Amino acid sequence: MVVERERLAALEAVRAASELCTAAQGRLAAGETLTKGDDSPVTVADFAAQAVVCATLTERLGAVDLVGEEDSADLRGRTVLRDGVVDLVRAQRGGEVSADGVLDWISVGDGDGFGDRFWTLDPIDGTKGFLRGDQYAIALALIEHGEVVLGVLGCPNLPNPDGSHGAIFVATAGSCEVYYPGVDDPTPAVVTAPMSLAEARVCESVESGHSNHGHSARITERLGVLAAPYRIDSQCKYGAVARGDASIYLRLPTRVDYREKIWDHAAGKFVVEQAGGRVTDVDGLSLDFSHGRLLAQNRGIVATDGRFHDEIVAAVQHVLSHPEL
Ligand code: AMP
Ligand code: MG
Repeated sequence: MVVERERLAALEAVRAASELCTAAQGRLAAGETLTKGDDSPVTVADFAAQAVVCATLTERLGAVDLVGEEDSADLRGRTVLRDGVVDLVRAQRGGEVSADGVLDWISVGDGDGFGDRFWTLDPIDGTKGFLRGDQYAIALALIEHGEVVLGVLGCPNLPNPDGSHGAIFVATAGSCEVYYPGVDDPTPAVVTAPMSLAEARVCESVESGHSNHGHSARITERLGVLAAPYRIDSQCKYGAVARGDASIYLRLPTRVDYREKIWDHAAGKFVVEQAGGRVTDVDGLSLDFSHGRLLAQNRGIVATDGRFHDEIVAAVQHVLSHPEL
C-alpha cells in the first residue's frame, strides 16, 4: 500500500531531479562524464539527480531502502567529477550542502533489491539521449513483495501536443496521471488503441545496441504496421504508450545473456499498466521484480495498449525463434 505522503515525496523528488537535469543538459564541461565498467556513460547530472532524489525522500519519509543505478564509489578519486556533482546539487537545493553529505545521499541508493519493500531509481535513464540533447527520464518506483505499487516518471523533454515540453507521469493502483509544466492539476493518462495494427505506432530505442532494430522491422512487417518506428530514448517510451502517443513499445534482446535492470522498467511498466495497457517480456511473462537488481527471469519487453498484446507477443516469438530468416 502507498500512502499519500509517499506519493507526494516521490513527485517532489522527481520534479527536483528533473529541474536539475534540465539545468545541466547541454552544458556539461570536460571531465564531467565517465564510462562505466559496462561501457555505459554516466555524467555529473546522473549522480547529482540521485543525490537530490535520495535527499528529498529521506527528508520527507525518514530512512528508505533504495536501489539506485549510481554508486558513490565511482566518484572516489575523481575530483573534477565529484566537484561537478556537488555544484549541481548545491545549485538545485541551495543552502549548506557538503561534499560528504552529497556522497552520503548517493549512497542511500546502495540497496540490493531483496527487501520486502524498497524503492528503485534511475536518476537519468537514457544517458545517451541526455548527452545528445534528446529524451531521457528520471524513473522512481516503489516495490512491495516483488510488485510495483508506485511509479513516477519524469520526462523533462517530452514534446506535448500543445507545443510545450516536459511531463511527469504518476501511477498508483488504479490511476495514472500526468503533470504538465505550469498546470497545477494533473491530467489522466489513458492508453489509446488503434482500430487495427496497420495504424499502430511502435516505439523503440534509438540505440540499436539496446534493442534489435532488424527484429523489430520484421515483427512490425509481419503485423502489418505501416508507420516507421518512433525512436525515442529512455522510459519516455512507456510514457508515450501511456498517453497514446504510441501504442506499442518493443525492446528486443541484442544479446542472449543481457538481463534488464529493475530501475530501467519498474516505474515505466506501472505507468503503462495503470493507464490501461499491458506489459510483459518477449515471452509473454510478467516482469518479476523479486530477484534483486536484475529482471533475472525475463528477457526484453513488450508494452502495449492491451488490445493486440497476445498477437504481438506471438509475432515477436515467431521472429525470435527464426532469427536468421
Ligand atoms: P533506451 O534509452 O531505451 O535505449 O535504454 C537505455 C538503457 O538501456 C540504459 O539505462 C541501460 O541500462 C540499458 N542497456 C544497456 N545495454 C543494454 C542492452 N544490451 N540491452 C538492453 N538494454 C541495455
Ligand atoms: Mg537506465
